[in-house]
Amino acid sequence: MAQKFFDSLEYKSNLENINTEKAAFLKEFELQYGYAGKIDQIREEEYPQLNGAIFLDHSATTTYAKSSLTSFTTDLTNNLYGNPHANSPSSQRCNQRLDQIRDRVLRHFNTNPDYYQVIFTQNATAAIKLVGEIFPWTSGQSSYKYLRESHNSIIGLRRFAEEFNAQSIQAITEDDFFSVFDSDSVRQTKYLPRDNHNNITYNLFAYPAQCNFSGIRFPLTWTCEIKKFNNKNNDSKTLVLLDAAAYISSSLLSLSEVDTSPDFITISFYKMFGYPTGLGALIVKSELEPILRKRYFGGGTLDSIAYDRPWQKFRKSLHERYEDGTINFLDIIALDHAFDASERLFNNFNFIKSHVTSLMIYLSRNMKSLQHYNGRSVCVVYSNNDFSDNTFQGPVFSFNVKRADGSWVGYLELERLASVNGIHIRSGILCNPGSVARWIKLYPENIIDSFASGKTCHDEQDMWDGKPAGAVRISVGAMSTIDDILVWMDFFKKYFVESSPPYSMTQNIKNIDENSTSSDQNLVLEKVTLFPIKSCHGFNISPFTSWPITSQGLLYDREWMLIDAGKGKALSQKILPRMTLIRPVILRDKGLLLVSAPDRDPLYINLDPEGVELSTYSSQVCGDKIQAYIYTSPEISEWFSSFLGLSCRLARHASMTNDCLMQRRFIKPHLDASENAPLSLSNESPFLMISHSSVDHVNKKIKEEGNREVKPDCFRGNFLINGATEFDEDQWKMVRFGGQVFKIIGPCRRCRMVCINHENAEVTKEPYSTLARCRRFKGKIYFGHHMVHVPDLSKIPYVIESGSSVQIEYIN
Ligand SMILES: *Cc1c(COP(=O)(O)O)cnc(C)c1O
Repeated sequence: MAQKFFDSLEYKSNLENINTEKAAFLKEFELQYGYAGKIDQIREEEYPQLNGAIFLDHSATTTYAKSSLTSFTTDLTNNLYGNPHANSPSSQRCNQRLDQIRDRVLRHFNTNPDYYQVIFTQNATAAIKLVGEIFPWTSGQSSYKYLRESHNSIIGLRRFAEEFNAQSIQAITEDDFFSVFDSDSVRQTKYLPRDNHNNITYNLFAYPAQCNFSGIRFPLTWTCEIKKFNNKNNDSKTLVLLDAAAYISSSLLSLSEVDTSPDFITISFYKMFGYPTGLGALIVKSELEPILRKRYFGGGTLDSIAYDRPWQKFRKSLHERYEDGTINFLDIIALDHAFDASERLFNNFNFIKSHVTSLMIYLSRNMKSLQHYNGRSVCVVYSNNDFSDNTFQGPVFSFNVKRADGSWVGYLELERLASVNGIHIRSGILCNPGSVARWIKLYPENIIDSFASGKTCHDEQDMWDGKPAGAVRISVGAMSTIDDILVWMDFFKKYFVESSPPYSMTQNIKNIDENSTSSDQNLVLEKVTLFPIKSCHGFNISPFTSWPITSQGLLYDREWMLIDAGKGKALSQKILPRMTLIRPVILRDKGLLLVSAPDRDPLYINLDPEGVELSTYSSQVCGDKIQAYIYTSPEISEWFSSFLGLSCRLARHASMTNDCLMQRRFIKPHLDASENAPLSLSNESPFLMISHSSVDHVNKKIKEEGNREVKPDCFRGNFLINGATEFDEDQWKMVRFGGQVFKIIGPCRRCRMVCINHENAEVTKEPYSTLARCRRFKGKIYFGHHMVHVPDLSKIPYVIESGSSVQIEYIN
């Protein structure tokens, strides 16, 4: 598959290196990896949805085999399945099928209905919640303990414990395990009355078989230990809930030793098979039936009921009693096909386990060995385990990245770059605050403080208090290949391992004194562009035609914008790439703004606001309040709305009235704040300068990657300079175009908007992806420089023209 697979990817890797590495890997792991040489064929035939993707987020969900879907749909189209609560032949068929599948689930866990029962739920979380609901809590006496590294869904059980006024609710660490439970049994023996032997207090202990954050597997022998403690004590017993949701995706969990196995096991099936989703199970010990408590009841759970008094009799078997309402019966049938496909493709989960372990050994070894040019490690890894030991480590690699200078790389930076390159990973707190405390040392106090300052789990802030606010997680599954891992390594090394000191804006500053100008360069102002309508196509000033400049920018630059008719928010090309096909032209001599777009008659708008029907309007641009006027003409609104396919209106910045009090926006503080120049509707500064040579340099790198080159237009500069050496502009302080002097106030930060092709509105990954390699500094990507005009009364009128010569003063 190799060549075809690599061709389909967004990310272009160095194939020669990959092939050498792959050969070495296959030799080393020939016995463990690849299901006796079948993996490439399996991948190609059964997982077409993975074409073009490097999917490394199997802990979130693995993906489904094609044949499981086709056999499922064939089954449904050949058989009629009725609601399992009814008695018709179709319902009976369905019921029979469901019973077989319950048995199959139990067989998978090496047990049978004498010992365990399957209660189908919506997912693992619903199964966990059900435990909280039916657990025999004793008010004021039961306790709930859970391992610190539990998923939020397990921590959430403490709300039931709170409701029952639990004697204690405690998150324990691995090291505490023995001391906590042993002392518990001793303490409780002392305190509780010994005369009533039937009156047992039940406590609950919950822990994950595999941590969803770090992949660490916690001892399955803990249940056995707890049972030993239970035996020392007649008055209280601790039941064990094993959250197996993460564990079961690549390992067999055996419940064959019933006496030493957990009481409750919770799972989600999509984590095993990718499909069906919306289906999980609580596997519960049959012997617990007499003590579990039914609270709410729904359809299907009753043997008899009186509608007007608190009298109802519940069905006997556990699943009949606790599955309220109609279960997801068709997806349970899909589960049968998922089991079939998995057995057909991978034989059994032990083969999956050995396959993923070989990938983890390779991945962890290579990630851990990465070093920057100065010898510092690149990855901080969130597991101390040996990745070859799959008793204690699942196929998950969680980490954060440090730069050569020791600073952290934000996980969102990594995730975004991976996404641009078609690589699917997960980052963040991962619903596991206990692991964040353990590994990142971000403790509950820190989290509470951060929330008080406005930080939430879902925001865009990936650092807190100088620490990462989460981790990057890579996880593999049954159908992952060594190719996936090799592409990942290639990508990661290219973007995050510094083989030389990082690019810096102020490095190698040239030693040129204050007033010197460049003599060795023959610079010319190649193009002057303005963007009359914010986020639409640029308008180039004809060569050798002078154009007025104001303190806010080129005359008419970003004077108009489009706002959505509902919320009044400014529209952006970032969300509507098609905006770039709207071409405004300023006809100064005619006093008109001419707007054209493909397949549309041109629209003419008077430049003179007098006589145009406008209504006032206030809005926000880039976080600042602004005053604007809206064109009320239905013809104008209709023209833009029909082209963009969304209801919008044209607005004009209020500064056109020269009412300075209206002017509220100024240059952004990350730029040179001493320059308090006002802004039009542009985001950051009045003028943006781009050097053609730097664009050429980026294009050279883009070509080396085998990608399509970009035009200078994509950087949306006002001034395009030709003749400088690449990135020389990073050392410039002042620039003179003809007679007018401009001061450079800072480099321009870039987002993915540069990826929009201005001719056809197509979005690609370039030049962002390449800039991220050669122009990324402390997580920000820079290209081009912001400027302000330095007014000099002896140089009136303030005009500029393309074709004029350029002179430079360097930073000293
Ligand atoms: C995925 C997962 C859960 C939650 O599963 P849902 O399907 O979202 O309910 C709980 N615990 C662990 C360890 C998991 O990996």
